[in-house]
Amino acid sequence: MINLILLGLPGAGKGTASEQIVDKYHLAHISTGDMFREAMANKTPVGLEAKSYIDKGDLVPDEVTAKLVEERLGQDDVKNGFILDGFPRTTNQAELLDEITTRLNKQLTNVIAIDVKEETLIDRLSARFMCKNCGATYNKFSKKPKVEGTCDRCGGHEFYQREDDKPEVVKNRLEVNEKMNAPLKEYYDKKGLLATVNGEQAPEKVFADIDAILSKD
Ligand code: AMP
Repeated sequence: MINLILLGLPGAGKGTASEQIVDKYHLAHISTGDMFREAMANKTPVGLEAKSYIDKGDLVPDEVTAKLVEERLGQDDVKNGFILDGFPRTTNQAELLDEITTRLNKQLTNVIAIDVKEETLIDRLSARFMCKNCGATYNKFSKKPKVEGTCDRCGGHEFYQREDDKPEVVKNRLEVNEKMNAPLKEYYDKKGLLATVNGEQAPEKVFADIDAILSKD
């Protein structure tokens, strides 16, 4: 059983790595960012509350996010293991997650941090675009759809740039997340769960390194 957290700043490659991990290990992929975007698109109460924070690049309050995660972790498809992508982002969230995994009896097995330099993150986020239909992510330079104008995952033809990937917001998002990144890594290092991979490498190499860690257990 693998119950994994992927740590990494926005643009580190958590989404791309998650897709590859899901293909091989069939884990439930739980991305709080994706869940918030879906909630905003559907204008649910959580979506409406989250929007004001997300548009500025700030974090949604911990209680709101933790509740969303607890509900999701309780669903049936999580029983064969999960990847948490984008949660926790603060040590307070990590403590809340400890309570949640204890309540649900789903202990963490691995925490993998994908490390990438800040300049690389800015370049990647500004070149990132998404499928309007399924949310698959692409990059203008390094990860174009196989057929131009058609989403590899769902065949959709409409793409957009995330509001919070625009330069005005990216700077704040990185600052907000960077502050918490080192303490979070330390939190899991102390528990003996943390491994780190070099996210500057090509996506296949990043996945190979992650795979080596996951297949050891
Ligand atoms: P992401 O797609 O992971 O970059 O998330 C997009 C936005 O959703 C973030 O900038 C936050 O505003 C919000 N968000 C996602 N995950 C969390 C979290 N764990 N805690 C607080 N806010 C979050």
